[in-house]
Amino acid sequence: MKTDFDILIVGGGLVGLTVALACGQAGFRIGVVDIEKPSEQLAESHDGRASAIATASFRMMRALGVADALVEGDDTHAGPINKILVSDGQAGAAPSPLTLFFDSAQIAEANDGEPLGYMVENRRMRHALHGQTKKQDNITWIAPARVSDIETSGAKTTITFEDGKSLSASLLVAADGRNSFVRRKAGIGVTSWPCHQKAIVTTVEHELPHEGIAHELFLPAGPFAILPLTGNRASIVWTERPRAADAAMALDTEKFAAELARRFGDFLGWVKPVAPRWCYPLSFQHANTYVGERLVLVGDAAHAIHPIAGQGFNMGLRDAAALAEILVQARAEGRDLGDAFVLAQFESWRKFDNTALTLACDMFNRLFSNNIAPIKHARRMGLDIVDKLPPVRAFFMKEASGQIGDLPPLLRGEAYI
Ligand SMILES: Cc1cc2nc3c(=O)[nH]c(=O)nc-3n(C[C@H](O)[C@H](O)[C@H](O)COP(=O)(O)OP(=O)(O)OC[C@H]3O[C@@H](n4cnc5c(N)ncnc54)[C@H](O)[C@@H]3O)c2cc1C
Repeated sequence: MKTDFDILIVGGGLVGLTVALACGQAGFRIGVVDIEKPSEQLAESHDGRASAIATASFRMMRALGVADALVEGDDTHAGPINKILVSDGQAGAAPSPLTLFFDSAQIAEANDGEPLGYMVENRRMRHALHGQTKKQDNITWIAPARVSDIETSGAKTTITFEDGKSLSASLLVAADGRNSFVRRKAGIGVTSWPCHQKAIVTTVEHELPHEGIAHELFLPAGPFAILPLTGNRASIVWTERPRAADAAMALDTEKFAAELARRFGDFLGWVKPVAPRWCYPLSFQHANTYVGERLVLVGDAAHAIHPIAGQGFNMGLRDAAALAEILVQARAEGRDLGDAFVLAQFESWRKFDNTALTLACDMFNRLFSNNIAPIKHARRMGLDIVDKLPPVRAFFMKEASGQIGDLPPLLRGEAYI
């Protein structure tokens, strides 16, 4: 049956763009629908976050040509994460001496001498992904546009827009974020639970070089992360209880800088916020199924997690790589891309991993975001024990760098073109 596209992707965020690029480079005809204009998404003011991109995910970005686009001449927008220091403490006091230290040198062989990952500002990543999708003639942008209806019949699914126009494809991909319209329209429920925290995000400049060390300091209200960007800059993810987060957002610049410095300490000399503040309510959410009739959910539309381990986007990238590979295999076998058997393979490849990571992040957040004395002592001992067990430490490092499990070709660095 003739359709306008092989694959229609609703949501051109970081994950939707990656699915478009991966499947576009594999030769499929792609339509990407977003409610926002590309110029709005590419504006400086769109997203103040930076993402920790795991080693395997960055390898995928190289395979897609996106990593090249992050480097402009000698100017790179990807800051290596060479080491991660995890500690437990209290605002205004020195952290506990019982810490956990991950050093990429300890898994150099397994990691091909790569760092544990790279920090990339989301706006830079979005620019690089947009630039790459524009090079593909088989990727069409449909934006701004709002879907009002979805209908599946025979071998195609048809989406209708608010202006009455419609487009069809063999497969619909929902990449429209945690409040996914497509997921709701398909009647797919979610399991969700709150974590009673908000994340304040900003960028700081500091006096001394960070040497590519990411710091995860567990404070009683939640983790405070100092993540190394290029130059003497760091991205801050400061997790707080909602009332305290709202109060911190309302502080004037000077008082906000003082609160930040109280948590940051002085190990990098002076510290100065140099970007607007952003605040994100946090919760966990997991779709009850990742597939529907000629439909697949990816990224935050399928699973939205706490940023404690910097894994949300990485999970979405793994979804994109697995989906592209399953669709390439389906085409090679002459199968319909929206066939239920094809889509079931995507679910069985991704759902177990995503569920396990979601539950692990929830458990760590509960374990560390409190000031209950016996739990505090036990977790500090736990950090120290893991620190003293090289094989366990190496396992966590490989997990953080995305090297464990059944990796699809893109995550192994193998391109489709
Ligand atoms: C504070 C914080 C820090 C984080 N840090 C990290 C990190 O270090 N590493 C990491 O891996 N992850 C991190 N994450 C998680 C990561 O940001 C998300 O997992 C990721 O952005 C999800 O991307 P997405 O494309 O699935 O969804 P989104 O980014 O939400 O994109 C959805 C897209 O769909 C569009 N859309 C929405 N509704 C519609 C509709 N009805 N029709 C058409 N289009 C629509 C939107 O305009 C948008 O473009 C962090 C998250 C937070 C909150």
